[in-house]
Amino acid sequence: MNYISTRGQVEPKGFIDTVLMGLGEDGGLMVPQQIPAVTTETLERWKDLPFRELFIEIFSLYANGEIPDKDLRELVDASYANFREPEVTPVRKLDDALYILELFHGPTFAFKDVALQFMGEFYSYVSRTRGEIIHILGATSGDTGAAAIQGVRGKEGIKICILHPHGKVSKVQELQMTTVDDENVLNLSVKGNFDDCQRIIKELFTDLDFKAKYHLRAINSINFVRILAQTVYYFYAYFRVSEQLGGEAGSRKINVSVPSGNFGNIFSGFLAKKMGLPIHKLIIATNENNILERFVQTGEYRPGEFRKTHSPSMDIQVASNFERYLYYLLDEDSAKVSEIMGHLASEGRIFIEGELLERVQAEFRALGASNEQCLELIGKYKSERDYLLDPHTACGVAAYEAFNADGEVTATFATAHPAKFDEAVRLLDIAQEFPVEIAELALKEQVQTVIESDKAEVTRQLETFFA
Ligand SMILES: *Cc1c(COP(=O)(O)O)cnc(C)c1O
Repeated sequence: MNYISTRGQVEPKGFIDTVLMGLGEDGGLMVPQQIPAVTTETLERWKDLPFRELFIEIFSLYANGEIPDKDLRELVDASYANFREPEVTPVRKLDDALYILELFHGPTFAFKDVALQFMGEFYSYVSRTRGEIIHILGATSGDTGAAAIQGVRGKEGIKICILHPHGKVSKVQELQMTTVDDENVLNLSVKGNFDDCQRIIKELFTDLDFKAKYHLRAINSINFVRILAQTVYYFYAYFRVSEQLGGEAGSRKINVSVPSGNFGNIFSGFLAKKMGLPIHKLIIATNENNILERFVQTGEYRPGEFRKTHSPSMDIQVASNFERYLYYLLDEDSAKVSEIMGHLASEGRIFIEGELLERVQAEFRALGASNEQCLELIGKYKSERDYLLDPHTACGVAAYEAFNADGEVTATFATAHPAKFDEAVRLLDIAQEFPVEIAELALKEQVQTVIESDKAEVTRQLETFFA
């Protein structure tokens, strides 16, 4: 299987080349030429597989035979060896209608570990087997940077530089990134906000000569390997919930509710569904940065004013994976995707209506939880169920409460551990116990370079670091 761009101007590429390329060279996002279909018999065969085996089965459908089975198995084992739960992504039942898929048992306590631990191993493998130089450059609002650094620290043949906005990430996120003292890690703390960091990175990646000269590789969620790794837990969650429902499974509809920002996680769900996983509703949960809610309800997609909320990893206005969905909504018509994305760039908005909007609404539900609602739910679930939600997961639960109809069951995704976002939890006077890995961070020394928000300064830093 080969990969093509949503904008149609990239020659079909193999799997590894697609991952190395990251963003399509025509500005589009890479997608498989054909989405593999999974039959009922296959689902039956997969339903009792442990997470790692399921990963290998799904991955093999997409990897074109470019990674021998034995190597893939080693990569997967190494990726999930650092998870604190043997199941990797366990499912907890809160009541008959609500299950929580816990995605935060990796090294940095957020769901990004699931894909980025694998990506670290994968890049390291490509460096070993192909002799490729891997210089990772990325910007983060907190979780991606921490997870990516953990994924590649100390690995030979790889260097990583992460930009984060100075003083604007949570304390735990900052410590997770800056207490890593491996020589292949450079933390640039930029005096600006996340958008400034993102803009600098984008400009550096758009400069194809610079990108080639310094062997720049991306780790952001537009990379298809991240999307693919995330589809695994949709299958896993579906199987665990069906198993608990027992004989009832056939008669109950299973939904997923996914705390969303860049549309990366929920796109993985869309892909799983397109492959044939019988998910009923794909529920997009956002916070007050609710452009996706507006899109599903009205058809208007218009990035607006940035709002700071209790769930900072979802404080995003431009959902970078949205274009992938648009591509499928428009029946894989890349000319139309290019036209609409051009319109978005020039007009700042796009509008979908009629039969297309009906299709969006048949596929998704969406809710943007308010700050108040988010805190209220953290308090309610703590006191009534003794389950502590992090503020991102609380948005997921808000959307579950809004959309789970009678007789339906929803797996809400817990995208972060509450200890990572204690700033919000503390507002409710809830004292939580910190996992030892997080408590220990405060004792370690921080290493970071504070710089002005200036592309030339970043370039200078990279020229030295990547030399
Ligand atoms: C990144 C992140 C999200 C949003 O995920 P997307 O793939 O960008 O939609 C939600 N919750 C947490 C805790 C995150 O770190």
